[in-house]
Amino acid sequence: MKVNGLTKTIGLIGCPVEHTLSPMIHNHLSEVCGDNYVYLPFHVEKDNVEAAVKGSKALSVQGLNVTVPHKQAVMPYLVDIDEAARVIGAVNTLVPVDGGYKGYNTDMEGLRQAIHSEHIALQGRTVVILGAGGASKAVVYMCMLEGAKKVYLLNRTVNKAEEIAIAMNAHFGKGDVIVPMALEAYGDIHENDMIVFQATSIGLAPNVDDVVLSDVSFYKKVAVGVDLIYNPAETQFMKLVKAAGGVAYNGLKMLLYQGVIAYGYWTNRSFESLQPYCNEIYEKMYHSIHKLDNIVLIGFMGSGKSTVGMALAEKMGFAFLDTDAYIEKKAGMSISEIFENHGEGYFRELETNVIRELMETTNHTVFSTGGGMPLRDENASLLRLLGTTVYLQASAKETYERVKDDDKRPLLQCEDPYGRIVALLEERRPLYERASHLCIQTDGKTVESIVDEVIKQMEDLV
Ligand code: NDP
Repeated sequence: MKVNGLTKTIGLIGCPVEHTLSPMIHNHLSEVCGDNYVYLPFHVEKDNVEAAVKGSKALSVQGLNVTVPHKQAVMPYLVDIDEAARVIGAVNTLVPVDGGYKGYNTDMEGLRQAIHSEHIALQGRTVVILGAGGASKAVVYMCMLEGAKKVYLLNRTVNKAEEIAIAMNAHFGKGDVIVPMALEAYGDIHENDMIVFQATSIGLAPNVDDVVLSDVSFYKKVAVGVDLIYNPAETQFMKLVKAAGGVAYNGLKMLLYQGVIAYGYWTNRSFESLQPYCNEIYEKMYHSIHKLDNIVLIGFMGSGKSTVGMALAEKMGFAFLDTDAYIEKKAGMSISEIFENHGEGYFRELETNVIRELMETTNHTVFSTGGGMPLRDENASLLRLLGTTVYLQASAKETYERVKDDDKRPLLQCEDPYGRIVALLEERRPLYERASHLCIQTDGKTVESIVDEVIKQMEDLV
């Protein structure tokens, strides 16, 4: 990033702001879009909110995000407020207009884009929202926009839920869609197939074992659970949803998308035009929260994943883990037995579950992965979150030389093993590339020189 006389400032006001991930979003977007913006966090004490807003305008600050505890406090100092932000009663984005700033709530839009990206449709569905704090209002508003049939709003302090329900039911004029309830009255909801948003602060790291509701019978009625919390990546709430057979998501995409939408407001860009950059930013944010320094080796059979992996682990002082061996140990049978007894689909599902488990439980580890693991779309993204993913490449000729005498490779039990290697490599190369941060050509190189190249390229990546 080059700062010069034309650089425009955007930023964040809040208290505290020291742990924010937002600079990662906006400075990345500025760079990839070729804009000359720099995004800075500004620590603003509560008595200085008015001065911060007016001073920012005086300094021609081109856009601001607002975080806790100023999302409401900032509102009296704006010249205009978007309708959704006004009804939600919180502003998290300021866009310069004549005479000052206009306020928006992109938390709501960010959550909306996040659920769309996971193909969660609220139209005609029963929704439960746990919590009635600041973020919860944006969730309620979004549920109403998306056409939820019923929204049960549960809170420890029930009068806060009642206030929100009265205001939002009146605003949307759709009768009593939003039903306020005390948290402990959850047993009175007699519906199945529910979508639940977890919008309390319970379960946030470091209190990762806490959960606002722990009754398993509640989770049996949940089809989809969305936790607004993103640290840890899998909250206790999410674990309970999944254990009862539902699917669950955390709040990291919401956080990412609220930022991307704000950047779009500041630079007159649509969300769709910025969407292609989202995966890269998501990975950066994930790695910065979870600090996973694992290295994941992917590639075709014979590419040297195990040999290089063990040597790399030794040189870096990391543990080494072969995912196929790990799966065999967990399943209590060999991979060919898993294929025979349960089919390939079951094995691929096992692989996905294992990556998710390793994301939660490992660090300082070099992984050698099964050759088919990165081929599944979901696995390609997950592997890049597990650690720095390195694609070890080898030509068809070299691969053939390395594996031709190995009679334990089912893929090569055919009349023309060389032709099969050529065809499979051609088919898989783009899928391996898609899943990797780095590609390393291994033909004719020693294990030691490949290890050195991985380490060097990883240093250059940072
Ligand atoms: P608030 O402080 O405004 O609200 C906190 C909520 O949690 C209230 O409903 C409160 O209930 C409830 N709560 C707190 N402690 C308990 C407890 N011991 N038992 C039961 N309920 C409890 O926070 P926000 O609404 O701003 O944020 C809520 C969560 O959403 C946070 O974890 C935050 O990190 C996350 N968030 C995520 C975003 C994202 O982009 N992913 C964006 C914004 C928030 P009561 O009213 O009774 O006190």
